[in-house]
Amino acid sequence: MERMVEIERFEEESSYETTLRPSSWDEYIGQEKIKKNLKVFIEASKKRNEALDHILFFGPPGLGKTTIANIIAAQMHANIKTTAAPMIEKAGDLAALLTNIEEGDILFIDEIHRMSPAIEEILYPAMEDFRLDIIIGSGPAAQTVKIDLPRFTLIGATTRAGMLSNPLRERFGMHFRMQFYTAEELAQIITQASRKLEKETQKDAALEIAKRSRGTPRISLRLLKRVRDFAEVLDEKEISLHRARYALDQLGVNSLGFDEQDIELLELLISAKNKPIGLNTISAALSEDEGTIEDVLEPYLIANGYIERTARGRIATQKTYTYFKLNGKDRGLFDE
Ligand code: ADP
Repeated sequence: MERMVEIERFEEESSYETTLRPSSWDEYIGQEKIKKNLKVFIEASKKRNEALDHILFFGPPGLGKTTIANIIAAQMHANIKTTAAPMIEKAGDLAALLTNIEEGDILFIDEIHRMSPAIEEILYPAMEDFRLDIIIGSGPAAQTVKIDLPRFTLIGATTRAGMLSNPLRERFGMHFRMQFYTAEELAQIITQASRKLEKETQKDAALEIAKRSRGTPRISLRLLKRVRDFAEVLDEKEISLHRARYALDQLGVNSLGFDEQDIELLELLISAKNKPIGLNTISAALSEDEGTIEDVLEPYLIANGYIERTARGRIATQKTYTYFKLNGKDRGLFDE
């Protein structure tokens, strides 16, 4: 079965997701502190008629980093060019991007921690002095060509704050850490999206889907889409709590939003009986790479107090032991 709450790093963005993507602050639910600050900075730079300072967003996938970058661009009446660090392989790739932007435009670079050091070096003067230093040729004949750039705003997004080099991090004037969403916020996102899809979700049903979404809007939307399929096949006008529960159970998403892989990880930690388990052991046991475990699997479980990271490895918390004791080891019992 497809892993319902999986988030792939470079998944193709579905047209479904694009059409549901909020385009204004009003539709962008939650992250209130970030929104409040950004509104001030946007207003100020508009007043001064200047490009916005460079902005960095940290946080697990699917929390709305790309979406917020697009809203910022809309608010600034700026064009936005979107790319991901692994796609910028050569100096020429970055030069092509930067020489094609206009004053005030926004360049959005996703997964910016994956930028190669050589490209980073070129990015520094571009960010700081709006200048490109390109070396043409090699050996004694090599020449540096300086190109002036229009003042632009770089918006970087990363799932791994710790992997960003210090010099790069310091060149961003604003840093924002995205938070997981509350169930109420996700329910609002689901309600809003289901209206756009012309298939209303009843209030309690939206909350049920929200609770099982690991605090992540992208997962909420994905689950909504699947629940909607069930309702559609049965010719139901609205999505009811009954239908949502039924569909989510069929999809194997439990009441806390844990999926099979979360449960595998938690069971592994519990079986170690308070002995910390290292990342490499977890990686081998789950057949999953360490980066995905750290970026995708763990943040939600840590933020909600199910596991702790210690210097010697990961351990399950009391909350997890209690949860498993109450629900038993039988997978079937996880779907309350
Ligand atoms: P990220 O770039 O952090 O991986 P995205 O910006 O692509 O996440 O968000 C995934 C989807 O979730 C978007 O298509 C958008 O529709 C929805 N979404 C994200 N954040 C919000 C929000 N605050 N309010 C409403 N919808 C959101």
